[in-house]
Amino acid sequence: MISRFAKSFVAIVVALLLLATITFLHPPSRAYADPWSGALLGEDGMEKSLHTSKPKPSAPILGVGGGVIMPKLGNATAKAALGRATWKLLHTMTLRYPEKPTQDERDALGSYFHLLSRLYPCGECASEFQMLLEKHPPQTSSRRSASLWLCSVHNIVNKRLHKEPFDCAHLDDTYDCGCGDEPLGIKSTTDLGGEDAAVGMMRGGR
Ligand SMILES: Cc1cc2nc3c(=O)[nH]c(=O)nc-3n(C[C@H](O)[C@H](O)[C@H](O)COP(=O)(O)OP(=O)(O)OC[C@H]3O[C@@H](n4cnc5c(N)ncnc54)[C@H](O)[C@@H]3O)c2cc1C
Repeated sequence: MISRFAKSFVAIVVALLLLATITFLHPPSRAYADPWSGALLGEDGMEKSLHTSKPKPSAPILGVGGGVIMPKLGNATAKAALGRATWKLLHTMTLRYPEKPTQDERDALGSYFHLLSRLYPCGECASEFQMLLEKHPPQTSSRRSASLWLCSVHNIVNKRLHKEPFDCAHLDDTYDCGCGDEPLGIKSTTDLGGEDAAVGMMRGGR
């Protein structure tokens, strides 16, 4: 007759063996399901084929054209920190934007800035930014034009806030993310055709 202790021991060993078999057959996956679309994202949480998905048939982008959504941001320290982080994101983005974007990519960048001007978490800044975009629409025809356009727009904000202008010839060194991208290759402001050339380009260029 088997003792109660022996029975429990055998049961535990069997349970452990079962668990080990299940773990071996189904190794844990770091893939996860997108809670909105239900689509399964790959290991590391990144879709494997970032650039292979075809653009969807052009649907009108809703919500791009409306007014400012966010309230006033009263805290000056928070406003400045938010600004620095956002400029960093925006400049890095335009400096990684394609050299020869497709129409879809151009639309995406233009819409991004217009949506930002509605959703930027500092309402009074967003309001100013909306007026700025109306006067100087986003330049999206290439990495160079987008980067220089943004640099000039940032300088317009700098001027309004009584800050020193930034020399757009230093975009490459200031925003070198170590990503290995082709630099813009602007060595001096004369490469831009003079001090205000970028602003001029914004008016006349694409
Ligand atoms: C869209 C937007 C609108 C804003 N509107 C307002 C506003 O209405 N009122 C307000 O008080 N604040 C506003 N801000 C925040 C403001 O622009 C600054 O971010 C904040 O005052 C902090 O300034 P900073 O001196 O630290 O440098 P930032 O202007 O934040 O710049 C950060 C760094 O970027 C670099 N830089 C500076 N100029 C350029 C340029 N032209 N091109 C590339 N790099 C540059 C410099 O290295 C600088 O140290 C806005 C920010 C954004 C993103």
